[in-house]
Amino acid sequence: MLDDSAYPIAFAAKNNDETVRAASMSGGVFSELARDILNRGGVVYGCALTETFRAMHIRINSIDEIDRLRGSKYIQSDLTNIWTLLAKDIESGIPVLFSGTPCQVAAVRAYVSFKLLSDDNLICVDLVCHGVPSPIVWADYLKCMEQRFDGSVESVVFRDKYRFGWASCHETVFIDGVPHSAETFKDLYFAHQVVRLSCFCCPYKSTKRVGDVSIADFWGIDDVIPGFNDNRGVSLVLINSIKGDGIFARIRPRLDARKVSIEKCLQPSLVTNFPEPKNRAKFWRDFQMHDLEWLVRHYANKPLWRRMGSKIKRRIKNRGGSKC
Ligand SMILES: Cc1cc2nc3c(=O)[nH]c(=O)nc-3n(C[C@H](O)[C@H](O)[C@H](O)COP(=O)(O)OP(=O)(O)OC[C@H]3O[C@@H](n4cnc5c(N)ncnc54)[C@H](O)[C@@H]3O)c2cc1C
Repeated sequence: MLDDSAYPIAFAAKNNDETVRAASMSGGVFSELARDILNRGGVVYGCALTETFRAMHIRINSIDEIDRLRGSKYIQSDLTNIWTLLAKDIESGIPVLFSGTPCQVAAVRAYVSFKLLSDDNLICVDLVCHGVPSPIVWADYLKCMEQRFDGSVESVVFRDKYRFGWASCHETVFIDGVPHSAETFKDLYFAHQVVRLSCFCCPYKSTKRVGDVSIADFWGIDDVIPGFNDNRGVSLVLINSIKGDGIFARIRPRLDARKVSIEKCLQPSLVTNFPEPKNRAKFWRDFQMHDLEWLVRHYANKPLWRRMGSKIKRRIKNRGGSKC
């Protein structure tokens, strides 16, 4: 048996069920983790979209509900409603899976410890996280789309894999049955002014993870396992603890999973923080005075992230095999 110092262990993985993979953001690994816990009589906490397209964490207890949690919502999710339920579930001794950004997982772990609860039946799954955009800007974006297309938003897809493939980052907003796709919100996100201030000094952008399992998009998969990528989604899975190992062993038959070396799957969000844009405060002043189209024209045209790309890639290369 390995002890916790043997981790992380990395895998590239795709769900064998193509319908599940199509409905998921990456390779559909989250759905199998959730299914395992639910099949054992447990409950799962994760992020769903409300009717008004806000991101909220909810509790589910049946496999039919997994779909509500599938897919990335690239805005900060609200945990307000879960704490009492979570404590009760953990106290009752049933298996509990919590999934969220690393800072949310850290908050759950701190809460469990503060309440003097045992975490024996708690499995935490963290996402490798670029940073969370502001829900206010997202709401403004949807309002702007409704005005422009003179209708009501019916549904949204933050990254539309179905129309543009896994590698793309187009969002699609359905207004009165018509899909409108763009890269507007994505460009604002990647320019970083709309990202939470605390994300620029995030202590979790590292291969030392807070979750028992971490899930992500496997960027760079073509160089690691040529031919594995079909542009329908490949997950990167990091197993970070003995508990994580246990659940992954149970779900592995439902995945096409290949072990890879950790050095080969590093990406910016696993290595380092992005710098806070110098004009971030100015953006928020302008946000009070201008509409979203003006903001997009002035702030999203040259995303800082793209300009930083080669610098970060060099940094990853120079780290070689070292753990971050
Ligand atoms: C804000 C954000 C930033 C991300 N940044 C990166 C990145 O830089 N690099 C990378 O490789 N991957 C990133 N991801 C993760 C990636 O987009 C996928 O969520 C992940 O690979 C899981 O995909 P899946 O196919 O296994 O499952 P899916 O079914 O697509 O995953 C759903 C899971 O995501 C959780 N989730 C969705 N939205 C949120 C949210 N707003 N807050 C908290 N949890 C949420 C759900 O609770 C569920 O656990 C990010 C995700 C989010 C939400």
